Amino acid sequence: MKLGDTKDFFSNLDFYRTTMEKIKKIPSIQILEYHQVENIVKTDNGFKLKVANLNSKQYYQYSANHVVIATGGCGQLFPQTTNSLGSIGEGIYFAHQLGLKIKDFEKIQFHPTSFNGININPSFLISEVARGLGAHLINENHQRFVFKYDTRGELAPRDIVSNAIWKEISHQNNENIYLDFTHLNCETIPEALPYIYKTCKSYGYDLCTDHVPIKPAAHYQCGGIQVNLNGESSEKGVFAIGECAYTGLHGDNRLASNSLLESLYFANSASKTIAKRKRFNRGKSYVSLVSDTPFSVLSVTQKEYLSQCKETAKQLLSLAFENNNFKKYVHKTDVLIKKFNATTTSLKSHPEVFETKVILKNVQYLLQKKMKQKSLGNKKIIT
Ligand SMILES: Cc1cc2nc3c(=O)[nH]c(=O)nc-3n(C[C@H](O)[C@H](O)[C@H](O)COP(=O)(O)OP(=O)(O)OC[C@H]3O[C@@H](n4cnc5c(N)ncnc54)[C@H](O)[C@@H]3O)c2cc1C
Repeated sequence: MKLGDTKDFFSNLDFYRTTMEKIKKIPSIQILEYHQVENIVKTDNGFKLKVANLNSKQYYQYSANHVVIATGGCGQLFPQTTNSLGSIGEGIYFAHQLGLKIKDFEKIQFHPTSFNGININPSFLISEVARGLGAHLINENHQRFVFKYDTRGELAPRDIVSNAIWKEISHQNNENIYLDFTHLNCETIPEALPYIYKTCKSYGYDLCTDHVPIKPAAHYQCGGIQVNLNGESSEKGVFAIGECAYTGLHGDNRLASNSLLESLYFANSASKTIAKRKRFNRGKSYVSLVSDTPFSVLSVTQKEYLSQCKETAKQLLSLAFENNNFKKYVHKTDVLIKKFNATTTSLKSHPEVFETKVILKNVQYLLQKKMKQKSLGNKKIIT
């Protein structure tokens, strides 16, 4: 876990809290908060992991018979996302390190209606329930527009509604798209959508009287590390669970509310598979300090440079998706990475350098995959 459990952002807090409470009661499970895995390599009888302890600022090496990658999605590669801050697709980065099969990484699902506010990260998600209740999507002239693109209007699937919004943004040349609840019975809204109502109000929008600005946001990574029904990847001993995995259950456009169920099913089958396997090095110490010296301290200029690289990569990815032109942005990302590599060769291992490297590599890989998908004839902006 990169963060402490109370500080991270979890979409399904009740589910998360209940699971964590149970896990904490199992003595054989050790939870390491503020630890970041940065490297996984295969050895003769298992795997070695390089892990940064973000509190003591030291690197440790862990050995393991099996590795389960459960690093979540990659929404934070985009400037607008509903995903938690740590969701940068580290699982995909590790999959490259280990040579694992990856499938459909380019199939990113965008949720059509995230609150469009400045400096709100993650974006606040206004769920389908709002449109189900009868809220309309309107453009800058306060006209409904989704019917122009699909006969189901606001109730069309996520990808279609997101595409409709992007087309309307491009057509009117600005981002002024809103959710409109004002025609609905005002008394029922706070009761039907208590959390959405309260949160929008805290941002200064009353659903009963105001039009709420929205924009599509990266929401779910449909593809990922390819696994079998036991959650095991193409490398024996390496498993992947949750949003970082491609299980084949979701197809191109995940339906709402089924990813947690998928995670539970695969966590169960993976743990049963691992429990049956023979283990090596039982009883031996599995953790050692890599070096007595703590991480080097980054200067203000170095920190600024890293955050500039991350922001540039995210902007390039966003522009490529908005303009549906991946080739141009693959090239720009290649240039950015070349410069980054040259600038950071003298920098020692550091969690922030690692994080930047992951973002750059994953943006490049995602753009390459989109470019290939497009050249195969898929003209959709999103899938
Ligand atoms: C707003 C929102 C609403 C949603 N609603 C639903 C819903 O109603 N129903 C449903 O089924 N799904 C829903 N989803 C999707 C679902 O919540 C996610 O797919 C799911 O939570 C992903 O779980 P995960 O365990 O794969 O990843 P996460 O919950 O993101 O956990 C990944 C963990 O890995 C850690 N990590 C990452 N990299 C490293 C590293 N290098 N070293 C150490 N630790 C690392 C992170 O710190 C984090 O703790 C929703 C998603 C969002 C964003």
